[in-house]
Amino acid sequence: MRHATVVVAMLFAGNLALAQPPAGRGSFGTPIGAGESCPPGTTEIRPRLCRAPEFPAPSILDYRPKSTLITTVHLVKRAKYPAIDFHGHPQGLLGSAASIAGLGAALDSLNVRMMVAADNMSGERLQRAMSVINASPAMKDRVRVLAGIDFRNVGPGWAEKAVKQLEADVAAGAVGVGEIPKSLGLTYRKADGTRLHIDDPDLDPVWDACARLKLPVFIHTADPQEFFEPIDYKNERWLELALFGDRRYPPDRFPKFEELMAERDNLFRRHPKTTFVAAHMGWYASDLGRLAKLLDEFPNVSTEVGAVLYDIGRQPRAAHDFFVKYQDRILFGKDSFQPEEYPYYWRVFETHDEYFDYYRGYHAFWKLYGIDLPDAVLKKVYFGNALRLTPALPQGGWPR
Ligand SMILES: [Zn+2]
Repeated sequence: MRHATVVVAMLFAGNLALAQPPAGRGSFGTPIGAGESCPPGTTEIRPRLCRAPEFPAPSILDYRPKSTLITTVHLVKRAKYPAIDFHGHPQGLLGSAASIAGLGAALDSLNVRMMVAADNMSGERLQRAMSVINASPAMKDRVRVLAGIDFRNVGPGWAEKAVKQLEADVAAGAVGVGEIPKSLGLTYRKADGTRLHIDDPDLDPVWDACARLKLPVFIHTADPQEFFEPIDYKNERWLELALFGDRRYPPDRFPKFEELMAERDNLFRRHPKTTFVAAHMGWYASDLGRLAKLLDEFPNVSTEVGAVLYDIGRQPRAAHDFFVKYQDRILFGKDSFQPEEYPYYWRVFETHDEYFDYYRGYHAFWKLYGIDLPDAVLKKVYFGNALRLTPALPQGGWPR
């Protein structure tokens, strides 16, 4: 026993000796207490011992390590089953026969059979888009539009006008409502100047009309939680917030994240007959347990995956299990229309590939993994749930 102790002591001494490089930069290191974090510019090299690198540290923008990991790669160009993009923003592409043909070619290359345009269109703008769609033999059953609601000047008499306009938009071809923007909650004001709450009773007749007309309501509430937090070095979205000033919601000027979530949930609760689709997994993709609670509490609510693939792909097992359990409540959607980004979704949903890059560095400085969904779940996420929740969509010709 005494012999062993001696060896350990020597090793430690040796180790200490080994760690004694020349003085100055890269010197031995700064001891810290338990639970403390290393001083800025240093990193922990041994438990509770921090050191600064010998060379100037690159910024998070410039440090771009090349992975040495060799794993199987399955690039999936086209979705395994024809998909419906429930969160489409084709914007100008519904402007002419040529532009919609271009949209069609892009969708064909991805096996996206249908796009639901969630550009908040109403009145003439919606009618113009519908006339371009209906005039295209190739695209007339491949694009549908959601109607927008004008939330300005909510107050006495607003609801009657809004419902009338909605009925006219449905007559013109709208199959649902949306994308209701985050401005509802964040910035919209009522006629009396107060902030328009998401669950304001003045809006009720519109939600009731959506139930009566069997229109799903596609709603984007708030933004990622970090956007409401201080922009410090602990903020997981520091880079995005430093890049985009309009994504910062300081508490002195905006309602809190939880306040908006509570108003939204109250809207869901008070309109059980209305079908809601919460965009971006309700910003709970990084907390699937919380999203599960929301879906359990509100059977009238489903969710869509646009622009949150980075959270799905960093928890492959939990996400796989979540998608299987809630396979009837998740819709595919992409948000901004960048055709080269859709295959990332197919790869996460269809493969068990590991450790691959996301398509937008400022969203995720971590790697993604495939969640390897079964075919039956893929079919529901890709088209089945959208068709079920949106009776006005063309229902024929989909794989069984
Ligand atoms: Zn959107």
